[in-house]
Amino acid sequence: MRIVMYNDYRVGVIQGENVCDITTLVPGWSPEWPQNFMVRFIAQFEAIRPRIEAYLPDAPTLPLAKAKLLAPVQYPTKILAAPVNYRAHQQEMGQVYKGQTLNTIAEYGVFLKPPSSLVGPGAEVVIPFPDRRTDHEGELALVIGRTAKNVKREEALQYVFGYMCAMDMTVRGGEDRTWRKGFDTFTPIGPWIVTADEIPDPDHLDLKLWVNEELRQNSNTSYLIYDVARIIELASTHQTLYPGDIISTGTPEGVGPIRPGDRVRCYVEKVGELEVRVVSS
Ligand code: MN
Repeated sequence: MRIVMYNDYRVGVIQGENVCDITTLVPGWSPEWPQNFMVRFIAQFEAIRPRIEAYLPDAPTLPLAKAKLLAPVQYPTKILAAPVNYRAHQQEMGQVYKGQTLNTIAEYGVFLKPPSSLVGPGAEVVIPFPDRRTDHEGELALVIGRTAKNVKREEALQYVFGYMCAMDMTVRGGEDRTWRKGFDTFTPIGPWIVTADEIPDPDHLDLKLWVNEELRQNSNTSYLIYDVARIIELASTHQTLYPGDIISTGTPEGVGPIRPGDRVRCYVEKVGELEVRVVSS
């Protein structure tokens, strides 16, 4: 299933060219604070999946083209992201950082991005410092489906709710990653979550990113240093992962600067395409 959050924070399933509204199948949607309803929905998804499937043929629908898609997860307890997790990206960063060799995920662990940096498809990414290099990083991201602590890699994929495209926007420089990658709008995700049953092998997916019509990144998740299961194992030994938590798995080579006016498009095989626009602050 492809799960979306759309319009005034409704939850839907994509069926062909339509969005089916399944918001009412999970109790607790409230007009006072619907933004984080998806987290509640994800926590209950396994239990209600048969009801969703039975409901879909009669569900109210809206043409997908008329739906305003939002970031499919909002207000997760955390976003974790892998630092260098592709060898070819480690090599190219040696030039950006004047011959330094950046540590990979094996030495560095994972880092946090603030949930306030999340935006959805079609969003404007705001460049905070026009005079500093700001880069795109196209990535495969996963969404945790159930509480995970000290999970072994052999079982780790059972804890995944689904997958999304993500961009880990980054100001280059000497500050901590959380600061350089944590600005508002610096974590576009979407355009939807593809549930994990549709992607049994997340470690063999093509990943591409274009800036305008220029193909900048073109790789495959088979080149990950720590694959998806091993990242979950690593992260869950450090902190409890909760339903809705996002883990972005790192970016391959081809990272480069973005400028106001650019359109940035990230494709992940079996997931879809996420596009955003870059603007100045
Ligand atoms: Mn990254």
